Amino acid sequence: MSVPRFDLDLTADQRAVREAVRDVCDGFDHEYWRDHARRGEYPHEFVDELAADGWLGALIPEAYGGKGLGTEETVVMMEEIAASGAGFGGAQTVHGGIYNSAPLVEYASESQREELLPKIASGDLSIQAFGLTEPGAGSDSPSMETFAERDGDEYVVTGEKFWISRVDVSDYMLLVARTTPKSEVDKRTRGMSTFLVDLEDAAAQDRLHMDPIEKSASTFVNSYHLTFDGLRVPAENLVGDEGEGFYQVLDGLNEERLVIAAELIGMGELALGKGADYAAEREVFGQAVGANQGIQHPLAAAHAEVQAARHLTDEAATRSAAGDLSREALGARANAAKYLAAEAAFAAADAAVQAHGGKGIAVEYDVERYFREARLSRLVPIAQQLALNYLGERELGLPRSY
Ligand SMILES: Cc1cc2nc3c(=O)[nH]c(=O)nc-3n(C[C@H](O)[C@H](O)[C@H](O)COP(=O)(O)OP(=O)(O)OC[C@H]3O[C@@H](n4cnc5c(N)ncnc54)[C@H](O)[C@@H]3O)c2cc1C
Repeated sequence: MSVPRFDLDLTADQRAVREAVRDVCDGFDHEYWRDHARRGEYPHEFVDELAADGWLGALIPEAYGGKGLGTEETVVMMEEIAASGAGFGGAQTVHGGIYNSAPLVEYASESQREELLPKIASGDLSIQAFGLTEPGAGSDSPSMETFAERDGDEYVVTGEKFWISRVDVSDYMLLVARTTPKSEVDKRTRGMSTFLVDLEDAAAQDRLHMDPIEKSASTFVNSYHLTFDGLRVPAENLVGDEGEGFYQVLDGLNEERLVIAAELIGMGELALGKGADYAAEREVFGQAVGANQGIQHPLAAAHAEVQAARHLTDEAATRSAAGDLSREALGARANAAKYLAAEAAFAAADAAVQAHGGKGIAVEYDVERYFREARLSRLVPIAQQLALNYLGERELGLPRSY
């Protein structure tokens, strides 16, 4: 069953997005996602169909062939994808491509925009990979060491990136690298720059080495340990101003966190639907296991938590579109929404696994995948502690831990 949602006052545009995305998702059932997860395969057919309908250009303005949508509609779209059976892992197969277009819309030169955005919007060009994290710089990304040194009309990139996902299904990667060493900048968040790395060219140069990381969640996509060994990137591939890359990454982060919250909410709903179905059906000691409060209450509590996170997320997305919140106020809501949605999705998946008894870890019942993905969501794209740091410091006025 699908879990009832507490009513939201959706706009006509949001309803239209929901219907259209649902139509695409209807073509991909639970078995499709299960098979791809089991084999660790990227869901090309699903992504191609979304791309063909222009959804990878959700955030690209209509003037460049995109849908010109905002956070308000994107939260609905991504909740729907996750709830359809894709889960958080399925949503992540397209999330990167949708969100990589945001800094291009905002900071790319007019010629870069004209060249790239229409192709992304039509699905002819894929920029699904985003390279920020390094072996020694995860939560603390300004400590990155990958360096892009200017040499005439090119930059020469040397260093390592870690966990970089979907490089194998991208034409370009959006890379953040230092262009001034941390020791030479007045503020540690300065001196980083964003580049478009042409992956076909990188393969031809043989100066970008990709080692896949074996992992137990998010198995639809490959994630890599990348080594840049003097890769030459044309200077014209710099996005925006040199040294301002970190601020470009921060810009739009609140909106992205809300969309990730929506994906987790969708997966929470999915897990609860499966958990409640099974709990109503499975009889033990002559009655449905769902009649026992030890099974029923965790499902019911998670339902309350998922719907609460959903309302916070929707309200913040609406206010973000209205533009009536300060960046700090939106940041507090976005971090609270991501935190609560990840906890709610974890509670929902955990309750669904428990309701299934031993079958909770059998692949054919799907809930074990949602559980692994919900666990992952407490670590990425920022760990829960970092979301709490924001609230503790900015909302409660407590000291910084770093
Ligand atoms: C499946 C997967 C896909 C990913 N895809 C990408 C990608 O495509 N591109 C990319 O750039 N990155 C990607 N990442 C990286 C991801 O963004 C990082 O893993 C994440 O930011 C956490 O960094 P870390 O793993 O280095 O943890 P660390 O920074 O080493 O932190 C370890 C633990 O310490 C805690 N901690 C650290 N500092 C504090 C503090 N001050 N207060 C309280 N707690 C603290 C953290 O919360 C965490 O629990 C991916 C990661 C995974 C697992």
